[in-house]
Amino acid sequence: MTNPFDLTGKVAIVTGANTGIGQAIAVALATAGADVACVGRTPAEDTVAQIRARGRKAEIVSADLSTIEPVQRVVDETVAKLGGLDILINNAGIIRRADAVDFTEADWDAVIDTNLKSVFFLCQVAGRHMIANGGGKIVNIASMLTFQGGIRVPSYTASKSGIGGLTKLLANEWASKGVNVNAIAPGYIATNNTAALQADETRNRSILDRIPAGKWGDASDLGGAAVFLSSAAANYVQGHILAVDGGWLAR
Ligand code: NDP
Repeated sequence: MTNPFDLTGKVAIVTGANTGIGQAIAVALATAGADVACVGRTPAEDTVAQIRARGRKAEIVSADLSTIEPVQRVVDETVAKLGGLDILINNAGIIRRADAVDFTEADWDAVIDTNLKSVFFLCQVAGRHMIANGGGKIVNIASMLTFQGGIRVPSYTASKSGIGGLTKLLANEWASKGVNVNAIAPGYIATNNTAALQADETRNRSILDRIPAGKWGDASDLGGAAVFLSSAAANYVQGHILAVDGGWLAR
């Protein structure tokens, strides 16, 4: 029996691959056999080195996803440099914090444009390619705030619950065309994004008290879920949002 998690011969795009969760997922996909286009603003040189050390191909594709201007080029460049596109991981994301009564249009637009608009249009362009080529896998990085309201993060919550709906819509439209569209909802993961929360002793304590696992997740904890949803093991999984959260949502 062949290994259903084997990604040998597959080509993946990972957005925001230079650090944090995106870097960990890019390296996990390469460890499972995939070649990876590392897409983002900051060149993912360390990620590329880690992937090449595993004997896989890796390329940097520069793109600022705060607008949808680069999305067609990202897919075209990946196909030109790595010979195809089988897997898309929409990971790049930002957060802005302020009370709802004070929240600015600029902070609304910045988060929605990066976390939701670019995600949809990258799905669209990648999806067209995958449908024309017989199939593929799309994994969108959601959040616990896909399921919960949160506080002081209105545009982030709207973007991440939007990703949940979008993932299901695209699964509905593309399941019969061989494209699997799923999402991962990370819990509290120790990255640059959450460094301020970890440094705040009171907030950190209340977060740890609330997580059944009793600890922050590591970015590498997302790797297995991403490999699963990118692989043949997930061929009949559609529109699912997989929480990797140390039990947060179970509580
Ligand atoms: P980081 O802040 O460590 O990394 C975010 C990544 O997104 C970076 O690579 C960053 O690139 C990239 N990015 C941001 N804006 C843009 C842009 N305009 N164009 C291209 N790339 C961009 O965050 P995490 O690794 O923690 O988060 C990754 C994803 O996981 C996000 O979608 C986040 O919402 C989600 N998530 C994280 C959780 C956590 O606890 N950490 C919990 C739930 C969800 P650059 O370095 O160049 O800015």
